[in-house]
Amino acid sequence: LFAAVAMAPRDPILGLNEQFNADTNPDKVNLGVGVYYDDNGKLPLLACVAAAEAQMQAAPKPRGYLPIDGIVAYDQAVQALVFGQDAEVLRARRVATVQALGGTGGLKIGADFLKRLNPAAKVLISDPSWENHRALFTNAGFTVETYPYYDAAHRGIDFPAMLAALTAAPAGTVVVLHACCHNPTGYDLTPAQWAQVVEAVSARGLVAFLDMAYQGFGEGIAEDGAVIQQFLGAGLDFFVSTSFSKSFSLYGERVGALSVVCATADETAKVLSQLKIVIRTNYSNPPTHGAQVVATVLSTPALRAQWEEELAGMRVRIRQMREALVTELRAAGITEDLSFVTRQKGMFSYSGLSAEQMQRLRSEFGVYGVDSGRICVAALNSKNLKPVAAAIAAVKKG
Ligand code: PMP
Repeated sequence: LFAAVAMAPRDPILGLNEQFNADTNPDKVNLGVGVYYDDNGKLPLLACVAAAEAQMQAAPKPRGYLPIDGIVAYDQAVQALVFGQDAEVLRARRVATVQALGGTGGLKIGADFLKRLNPAAKVLISDPSWENHRALFTNAGFTVETYPYYDAAHRGIDFPAMLAALTAAPAGTVVVLHACCHNPTGYDLTPAQWAQVVEAVSARGLVAFLDMAYQGFGEGIAEDGAVIQQFLGAGLDFFVSTSFSKSFSLYGERVGALSVVCATADETAKVLSQLKIVIRTNYSNPPTHGAQVVATVLSTPALRAQWEEELAGMRVRIRQMREALVTELRAAGITEDLSFVTRQKGMFSYSGLSAEQMQRLRSEFGVYGVDSGRICVAALNSKNLKPVAAAIAAVKKG
């Protein structure tokens, strides 16, 4: 039966982790990861999460099946966070939101639904994008192409080329956009550029799919969500996937959501019924724990305030690490303009280092990043910063 099964390619980032684990260098640093570590190099357990779990443990509940679309209070909390408390679109019941298995699950439910809705559509993702975007939409049956994004020469976004690609795309094309904290580059569009993207999506009849995996990691919860308001303002139907993996440090709980903005309440009810079919035929209904934690935190004022503070703490620490990295590289004699490092948003930095330089970082210094030059700034801390900066400076000097 399995004689003809070919070996699938290894996940490049997991492969990097294996290489890191096998490295005996005591000073090794893993910047290849996609997770936030605190200044002690540890994965945080947020105090608001621990408090919500303590509350839940004090009044344990039996574990029945959840509704197919998840915990009602959770879905409502997601909607308030993404679209704004008391948003007009919510009062008009124009958003279908379902609990999902992380942001990935939200993307997958959306992709499967879109494939049924518009099987001939193409999907455009940014060049480059989070690796799984291509795989996920390809496996849902779509042809996936890219729109230009990263501009290596100018250390930023090739916005004219991006806009030209969107303007040339046929009606119905699904465009996957990173709502904030672009992974892997760290470069985000300005509000004025977003306005032009919204205009192109609207004029060309494209389908926007906003992947919001890092709300609160860039500038703030509302600031990072502002792009959603721009799409709402244009009266568009669109998709938003949400992930709480990073913002609640709940990676392993798989807490996310998919929201679909529709034109009318009647359409929304029909869309929701179709999303439920997708879920029902994949995993029937979602798990309880993580979503209950998030719902409890978001709907309990004291815990909510604590979360916002802890999230701000992660965001500020990342920014401090960006600034400190630049300072250390300068001190190590790097004279080129490094302002791009502090212009970038979120956990990642496209460092501009070549694959060869990234390999040297690994083999000579035990500093692990992705060959594309992506490093996780959220894995830097006050202990590893100086050696990492010294290593980067060394490979830059050749
Ligand atoms: N989208 C992007 C852009 C991501 O970076 C990630 C996680 N690395 C996800 C989606 C998936 O998030 P989750 O782990 O919640 O599935």
